[in-house]
Amino acid sequence: MDLQPIFIAGRWRTGRGEEMVSRYPADGREIARLNAASLEDVEEAIGAADRAWRDPQWRGRLPHERATILYRVSELIVAQQEELARLQSLDNGKPLAETRGLVASAAATARYFAAACEVLEGELPTPRSAAVMTLSEYEPLGVVAAITPWNSPIASEMQKVAPALAAGNAVILKPAEATPLMALKLAELFEQAGLPAGLLSVLPGKGSVVGEAIARHHAVRKISFTGGTRTGRHLAAIAAGRLIPTSLELGGKSPTIVLADADLEQAARGISYGIYSSAGQACIAGARLFVQRECYQALVARVAELARGLRVGSPFAADTHLGPLISPAHRASVAAYVELAKKEGGRVLVGGEAPADSALANGSYYLPTLIEGLNNQAQVCQEEIFGPVLVAMPFDDEEELIALANDSVYGLAAGIWSRDFPRALRLARALEVGTVWINTYKTFSISTPFGGFKDSGLGREKGLQGIKAYMQQKSIYLGLSGQSNLWSD
Ligand code: ADP
Repeated sequence: MDLQPIFIAGRWRTGRGEEMVSRYPADGREIARLNAASLEDVEEAIGAADRAWRDPQWRGRLPHERATILYRVSELIVAQQEELARLQSLDNGKPLAETRGLVASAAATARYFAAACEVLEGELPTPRSAAVMTLSEYEPLGVVAAITPWNSPIASEMQKVAPALAAGNAVILKPAEATPLMALKLAELFEQAGLPAGLLSVLPGKGSVVGEAIARHHAVRKISFTGGTRTGRHLAAIAAGRLIPTSLELGGKSPTIVLADADLEQAARGISYGIYSSAGQACIAGARLFVQRECYQALVARVAELARGLRVGSPFAADTHLGPLISPAHRASVAAYVELAKKEGGRVLVGGEAPADSALANGSYYLPTLIEGLNNQAQVCQEEIFGPVLVAMPFDDEEELIALANDSVYGLAAGIWSRDFPRALRLARALEVGTVWINTYKTFSISTPFGGFKDSGLGREKGLQGIKAYMQQKSIYLGLSGQSNLWSD
């Protein structure tokens, strides 16, 4: 298999780092081979990025001219939607129905930040004054490091690259080890759309080597990271030492809450989708289910029935609900958590093993799993599993529920199912999380800020503020009175 080139400082060439192999998680077959970026490649890419964002050719571009590149990228994505969705499914094993959605979301993100860049305005912060007028303008930060995970590459990468470029920065994108292909494809699209050389480099490689070198580089002025909490904390420490901003989208262990007055069928379907879509490989997966005792039996029985009916299989089959997990090692980790749940006293109601179907034997598949009999203190209720594993627990009153739901180091998201909106809203306010879904789950809007409380992250992505997260303000004072100082003589 030919070595796939990588994109360094506007040129396609093989990396000078160690060899990496990309595999299709559904059968383990090799789909690409490439050489990671070496430390010299990192140096070259960042050097070029630092020159590129300062280049008057780029700095002098009017916002609508920068936006044009993003609009073009969005059009290119839409034109190749099916091909891109297939590439993503091949790279990380997510079912096509999901990857089509991710591709559409990436195109929408590019358009949104193009528009945000066109309408972004500076400010005149002082009230009208005879002595002085102040202007406050937004400037780019410089070179931005975007470090991404493997679960939704095209969407999470566009969520960083689009606002960063719209804001006038250069971007060094370090995709996850398991999924370099989509990031490289994105680089191709930006190049086709006319992005000047050097403003985007894609440097695949190990996080601990390539990612670390990028984060520590003196010319990098922001680290925008999505991934695990441990790595996020490590990068925040590097950023603190260098006094640069970070934005961190980290892990979760999101509670989903069902009140007795909910539409139970709607709730059961939403809960099943919330945990089992993407085979649970989502930071926002609704992994802890709290059900009011009156309706616990009925609700859990219905979720169990739905889980049994989900189709586990090829990402490319039209009726697949759950594809494989990303790798055999990750499946082993999910399976180990289920064994731990049993040791902790949990009863596995559904799943708890790999599918028996011999056609799936070479893939990292795992059945949708439902466990009960644990309390929220169990290790499997406290740690992020990142797989299709749901733990159901009954609760009696609201105060107890709030304490249980908030008893987590994480605070990413929560779901509430209830017909009583005032009560649901009261609960929403009491939950220590960045996003609450009421009578829906995993729905997203690019115009709504997203990010975590507590160990789930720092900063917000999306929304009009999303572009300002990649900028810094400069304030300018204009003296109007002719008086050059405040001394009386
Ligand atoms: P996951 O989301 O798989 O739990 P990580 O948080 O480790 O894992 O990975 C998310 C991204 O962070 C990946 O691109 C990975 O290569 C990168 N990464 C991991 N360790 C480091 C590090 N020390 N410095 C910079 N990037 C890292």
